[in-house]
Amino acid sequence: MRVTFIGTSHGAPEPHQKCTCVMIEIEQQLYFVDMGTNAVEALCSRGLSANNVKGIFITHMHNDHTNGLFQFADLLAWRYKNASPVVCLPNLKAAELITEWLKINLDARERPISYRETKPGIVYNDGTLTVTAIPTQHCVNSYAYLFEAEGKSVLFTGDLKRPGIDFPTIARERALDLLVCEGAHFEATEYLPVFEQCDIKHVCVTHYYLPHMISVLQLRQELINRGLPVTIATDDCEITV
Ligand SMILES: [Zn+2]
Ligand SMILES: [Zn+2]
Repeated sequence: MRVTFIGTSHGAPEPHQKCTCVMIEIEQQLYFVDMGTNAVEALCSRGLSANNVKGIFITHMHNDHTNGLFQFADLLAWRYKNASPVVCLPNLKAAELITEWLKINLDARERPISYRETKPGIVYNDGTLTVTAIPTQHCVNSYAYLFEAEGKSVLFTGDLKRPGIDFPTIARERALDLLVCEGAHFEATEYLPVFEQCDIKHVCVTHYYLPHMISVLQLRQELINRGLPVTIATDDCEITV
């Protein structure tokens, strides 16, 4: 499983960071967690086709996690006709809006995309990948996603309220090969007591924010001291698990 960070920014783009968008490649099938930026451009620049996108999992509806969905649906409607991804959305009203947008933009040439409402529990299983949604308290209908494939487990926290409040308990119940956690809404060192209760092989901090950057670096140093591999994600960086 290869995890590529297309965008690592917090609520708004920064000079060297696009908004949140993570691509996961499993046996040449493509999946996304959040799509806050133009993912089709990112695919094209890597020589990949949107026809191979099987699933898109939106953690919550804030714009920095969803802005790329309109572009994606638009291009799928007329350019990538072999694509049939499942889009898991915490709020299905967005699917109606996208469909309406396509009617205006493409003169009713829209092609149905399979939208599914994210609810707690297993939201997706295609035989290669199982995705479990875990509610968080960042906002109304916000979720973390656990990806399980090829005998590996990767947890994407999405945005959180605070680690002591809504860090997904599933991380205490099973080993994680990779934890992708956010660093924008609290001091990142607040993760440390939670991590002590978990079996995590590699921590990656993304979605970080300048005012909390010192604590992100403190977290990094503390995890290095403990011998735990840690990555501060930058746009286009990749982690293979
Ligand atoms: Zn966010
Ligand atoms: Zn948010």
